[in-house]
Amino acid sequence: RLRELGVLKHQDTVSADGHHFEVAANVALPRESDELATSGAEGVGLFRSEFLFLHQDTLPDEETQFQAYRKLLLAANNHRVVVRTLDIGGDKQLAQVPLERENNPFLGLRGLRVSLAYPGLFRTQLRALLRASAYGQLAIMFPMVATVDEFQQAQRMVDQEKNRLTQEGIPVGKEYEVGAMVEIPAAVAMADQLAQYADFFSIGTNDLIQYLFAVDRGNGQVASLYQSLHPAVLRAVKQTIDCAHAEGKWVGLCGEMATIPTAVPLLAAMGLDEFSVPLSQVLPVRSQIRRLKVRQLQPLIHQALAAHSPAEVRALVDQLTSHMK
Ligand code: PEP
Ligand code: MG
Repeated sequence: RLRELGVLKHQDTVSADGHHFEVAANVALPRESDELATSGAEGVGLFRSEFLFLHQDTLPDEETQFQAYRKLLLAANNHRVVVRTLDIGGDKQLAQVPLERENNPFLGLRGLRVSLAYPGLFRTQLRALLRASAYGQLAIMFPMVATVDEFQQAQRMVDQEKNRLTQEGIPVGKEYEVGAMVEIPAAVAMADQLAQYADFFSIGTNDLIQYLFAVDRGNGQVASLYQSLHPAVLRAVKQTIDCAHAEGKWVGLCGEMATIPTAVPLLAAMGLDEFSVPLSQVLPVRSQIRRLKVRQLQPLIHQALAAHSPAEVRALVDQLTSHMK
């Protein structure tokens, strides 16, 4: 099995009946960017940029960030690299950006909201990213997008910084993308409109599930309600994928759900374009996808969305995939 996984590194991720997918890596620690080239990952689907800001006394300046993003793009060997802009607040605090104490940090100033509240911080990161975009296939992604307005506001700031760099004679890549994480239920509800502006979506199921069920993802007392395979989650994911595809945009999924063996056939059948998973999961997920017959899984979607519980969904998936192991 191990040898089989090794061989996969050099092949595309194609299902048994010829459907193409991408399996990219989630990267945070510097060690992980070093492992990228040998991992078999088809690019980076989520770079958690806040890790560049941790364990330091001062904020990394534009040059330091530029060097880090460029290094990552070069390590990705012409594959796409999705860099998520700073995603702090909630459970993630940065000593250099003291945020006010809040009663409900998960419903407070976090993700893109912090970047819009501290435009200097945000513009420095955008400039570093845009400069790095000249060295590979960069996708800039905003976390915790709740409204179309917020997304457009951030997108305008990208355009402004790009124009400034161009005026300064600093090269910027021609084909970088700007996309949104879909991890707030309001973004799912408005995905048809958001898809008109975003170049792509990446579904953040870790947060999306927490907000769909009103269940803190870190609270053990309510963990039984955190149900990745619940039809409520599947409906949200399906709606997001359909809205993106209707606008000709691609969709990834970078939450833990992309690594759940029962979820992978469902996501593939729904037409998810990219699975972004921890480095150690890249080859196992690619191997699972290569066994799937996606066309035969189509009836599963309708049945799974009509199910009442994760247990029912699991039984349906097991039944339909038993001969694809
Ligand atoms: C998510 O919310 O699914 C996600 C990938 O981001 P994080 O876990 O960093 O919040
Ligand atoms: Mg998240």
